[in-house]
Amino acid sequence: MTAPLLQLDGVVKRFGRAPDAVQAVDGVSLAIAPGEVVGLVGESGSGKSTLGRLVARLADPDAGSIRFDGQDVTHRQGRALGPLRAQIQLVFQDPYASLNPRDTVGRAVDDPLRVSGLPRAERRDRVAWLLDRVGLGGGFADRYPHELSGGQRQRVAIARALALRPKLVVCDEPVSALDVSIRAQVLDLLAELRAEFGLAYLFISHDLAVVRHVADRVAVMHLGRIVETGPTARVWARPGHPYTRALLSAVPRLHPRPGAERMLLEGDPPSPRHPPSGCRFRTRCPLAFDRCAVEDPPPVDLGDGQQATCLLAG
Ligand code: ADP
Ligand code: MG
Repeated sequence: MTAPLLQLDGVVKRFGRAPDAVQAVDGVSLAIAPGEVVGLVGESGSGKSTLGRLVARLADPDAGSIRFDGQDVTHRQGRALGPLRAQIQLVFQDPYASLNPRDTVGRAVDDPLRVSGLPRAERRDRVAWLLDRVGLGGGFADRYPHELSGGQRQRVAIARALALRPKLVVCDEPVSALDVSIRAQVLDLLAELRAEFGLAYLFISHDLAVVRHVADRVAVMHLGRIVETGPTARVWARPGHPYTRALLSAVPRLHPRPGAERMLLEGDPPSPRHPPSGCRFRTRCPLAFDRCAVEDPPPVDLGDGQQATCLLAG
């Protein structure tokens, strides 16, 4: 394998004080190769957005390490984060929240370039080129966010994210707030940009159909931990963790496989302040047995790069 672009090892993020701290991210290890799209799925509250913010170093990890492009960036602070901010960008669910309503579209896209110190004329050309590249003609530069549709605003947010030529874009539910008719267009745009610029994405979504469509590899998050990773097609065909099976069986299928087990998640996940001992999924797992309460299952290798943290996997 080529050297990873991003490498997380044992990353931890807690909110609040022990013993009642929320264990939002609890020992996550994950790698993303240059140009790779890794989908991050899991129920609401499983820690996906927190992990995305840690990756972009908008939050500081409490433990573990984060390497980016061969450098340890775990403890980078303040000005030293500048170059990293250019390399790792974020696109959020709600583009309206990430755009200043008083700034024109042109100014929003110019914002990161101004900080970079590029001369004005070059910046203007680059803004026009970026807007064009995301499918918004030059006329958009003078418009304001409230004059745009949700899809157009997300295109502006994407243009802005690409302004400094990042290597990794963390997309946190980038199409979840968009009309279904617009989603495919924005997903197509993200795919085109990836191909054109060799971008890697950490693509966070609770929507498994979207992740199936965009991700080379998937990581399944449950209560602050990654419980399964693997090539997307393989995980879909042969999920190794009961939690992944439950998530997948909740997706409506056009052609249900005859005899395929259906497994539904009942009730809310346990509190991230006081997760269950052993396997954190055991209180909702139909396959749980005595050892699951005492053993914290290590990742089991299932071949072809697939791993699942379940005592019954393999
Ligand atoms: P997801 O994106 O998967 O829905 P989040 O990362 O947003 O999950 O949240 C994970 C857990 O961390 C949740 O229990 C959430 O309430 C908690 N959390 C997230 N951000 C904060 C914060 N700034 N302060 C306190 N708790 C937080
Ligand atoms: Mg989230």
